[in-house]
Amino acid sequence: MGSVRIGVTASRKWKDPVPMAYALGWLAGSAFSAGMITDPGEITVITGRALGGDRMFEAIARRFGCTIEPHEVTDEQWRASRAAGFDRNQRMVDSGAWCWLAFILDGSSGATDCKERAERAQIPVIPYEVSTRPAEPPLPPLPAWLPDWELGYGIAEAGLEQQFGRPFEAQWDGTCACGGRWQPGDMLVYDAGEDRFVHADHAE
Ligand SMILES: [Zn+2]
Repeated sequence: MGSVRIGVTASRKWKDPVPMAYALGWLAGSAFSAGMITDPGEITVITGRALGGDRMFEAIARRFGCTIEPHEVTDEQWRASRAAGFDRNQRMVDSGAWCWLAFILDGSSGATDCKERAERAQIPVIPYEVSTRPAEPPLPPLPAWLPDWELGYGIAEAGLEQQFGRPFEAQWDGTCACGGRWQPGDMLVYDAGEDRFVHADHAE
């Protein structure tokens, strides 16, 4: 007799049983094909037994003949700690699983927390994430007459719009625009107006 443990987390407002049934059927088929089980009764489904998605999945798993392992948070645990749900999620993950199904609606925090704990425990997670929020409208294309601010900022950051560049140490000797000479080790700048290197103190 084989045994496979499948963890499940689902948002309370999850409404769609179809992907749940599909996912469980697919996992059961995979476990059967891999010789891990000969019957869905050898599958244990770990749930938090919260209202909504958890119980919907339990109902589906019972139809498949799976064993349910609920990790319900008691009223007393809820009263004792605001983190009771997160602690429960960790206990579920720590109980060990072959893989984890996550049915998350609008990024709900409890289900997302459980999914992330399973990932941290390196349990393979199969996420089904759905959003009912309206999608952000795409940005309209920019009209061609708008100045290219990004390029402008990039140039300003590099200092290219300034007359003098960054000071640097001369590696050779030469003649400055002032007629004086510089030696290796003197500080120079590039003078865009003169289009040549000059003593750095001309830039001050
Ligand atoms: Zn000079």
